[in-house]
Amino acid sequence: MRQSPKSKAVATAKTSIHGLDAPVEVRRHPTARRMTLRVSRTTRAVIVTVPMQCDLDDASVFLNRHLDWVRERLGNLPLPVPFDDGMVMPVRGVLHRVSFTGEAKTRHLVDHGEDGAQSILRVHGSREHASRHLRGWLFEQARRDLDACVLHHAGQLDLRPKRIAIRDQSSRWGSCSTTGVLSFSWRLVLAPQLVLDYVAAHEVAHLAQMNHGPRFWNLVRATMPRMDEAKLWLQHYGTELHRYDAERAG
Ligand SMILES: [Zn+2]
Repeated sequence: MRQSPKSKAVATAKTSIHGLDAPVEVRRHPTARRMTLRVSRTTRAVIVTVPMQCDLDDASVFLNRHLDWVRERLGNLPLPVPFDDGMVMPVRGVLHRVSFTGEAKTRHLVDHGEDGAQSILRVHGSREHASRHLRGWLFEQARRDLDACVLHHAGQLDLRPKRIAIRDQSSRWGSCSTTGVLSFSWRLVLAPQLVLDYVAAHEVAHLAQMNHGPRFWNLVRATMPRMDEAKLWLQHYGTELHRYDAERAG
């Protein structure tokens, strides 16, 4: 399942433009006939696709000519939210305030709590490692939820995945390889549980149908009757999930 089309470039160069607060990628593409420009909604990267014979200088001249357009596009994107003390982020669809406690000795590195009406995620250990601990904890939660959902749907449909991989990926919520490996984005754990459950069911169904034809959708609906609700949620709010820890997204 794809979120956005991604061109297959033969060579990608990363660069930066003075005064532009976004990474720039120059992709040489065998079938590109002219230079094109886009801004990724998920990684905030500025992507210049150029024909094979163009070099970096051509690309940066082109980009500089369209800087106002690029700035406007970047300005319209939701702001990235880095992992930090005091940040607010959804976990399983519920907003949590994140607190880096700095406390060294605790049983768990991360624990849940309530402060009045607000849910809190307390991240213990030294503050300099707190964002890494939080990232690790979120991966663990994603793994736990996805393992359970995949097991459930695979059981319903009598299918068997070979392996489940949790990744930091920005182009897809999930994918199914021809060898039966299911891969998922850790960011699904930020979404309401229905959404993660749907993506699990979607990829499990690909074990039987490697396409998006009517038989595929019948399988998904059989094990996930509320799939339309989840698909709508992803369409409307999916991009929002990429704000969190965005600078690391790849
Ligand atoms: Zn799919």
